[in-house]
Amino acid sequence: AIEVRDLTKVFGGNRLLFGGRRHKVVAVDAVTLALHKGETLAVVGESGSGKSTLARMLVGLEQPTSGDMKIAGQDASTLRGQGARAFGKIVQYVFQDPVASLNPRKTIGQILETPLKLLNGHDAIRSRARMAELLDAVQMPPNTLTRYPHEFSGGQAQRIAIARALAAEAEVLILDEPVSALDVSVQAQVLLLLQELKQTFGLSYLFISHDLAVVEAVADRVAVMRAGRLVEEAPVGTLFSNPADPYTVQLLASAP
Ligand code: ATP
Ligand code: MG
Repeated sequence: AIEVRDLTKVFGGNRLLFGGRRHKVVAVDAVTLALHKGETLAVVGESGSGKSTLARMLVGLEQPTSGDMKIAGQDASTLRGQGARAFGKIVQYVFQDPVASLNPRKTIGQILETPLKLLNGHDAIRSRARMAELLDAVQMPPNTLTRYPHEFSGGQAQRIAIARALAAEAEVLILDEPVSALDVSVQAQVLLLLQELKQTFGLSYLFISHDLAVVEAVADRVAVMRAGRLVEEAPVGTLFSNPADPYTVQLLASAP
């Protein structure tokens, strides 16, 4: 579903520091990686290792400094030429903080209607039917539509954010620490929901997480990042039982 080759993102190359030094951060450093259709690829690595930057490039939120990206068989540059919405029809992003990711001034109905109209061209009647289906899929009641984001708990808000991502009818969801902001009992429910939705809608997931127990439970393959580089990539069983890279060994050993 997604292939990237030598993908690189450098930040701040033009910013002048004291003494005239230019401060550069190579957030993602020549990463080559594939996300296959129907799989869950977890991306792990310590804070600042470039996970979110990688993810943001895949949804078109950030432009790569260099490297190639193929999204659903199409070149990223081709997609970019088709406008900002072209990415959204294929890849959707679910953020860590669900309440902050929902517009506080809009009702849930308005929030869900936007992708249905803009990305899929559904009219009002079609949109209403689709919204009912989406709420049902994420196990939220129909009266959700007339309410505002602040009226929901973190777990409920994340269900709504997932419904919004599904509204785009994209084939890939990027889940950036999707349950980290939720309390533990709610985490399990949302993870279970994500597993069900993956089957129902035939989705592929790029699952960013620092929680190795969660990764072991949900991932098919795991990519380990360190300082922008891809250190190791392996099927989940192999990575946990027989890690190849010393850094992965250290990461597994430091997990609680
Ligand atoms: P975390 O686990 O804390 O979310 P991460 O792995 O997602 O971390 P990124 O957010 O991708 O890490 O950041 C990678 C590096 O790029 C960091 O050094 C960060 O400071 C830097 N960076 C990210 N976004 C920007 C930006 N817009 N401008 C400048 N530097 C940035
Ligand atoms: Mg991040």
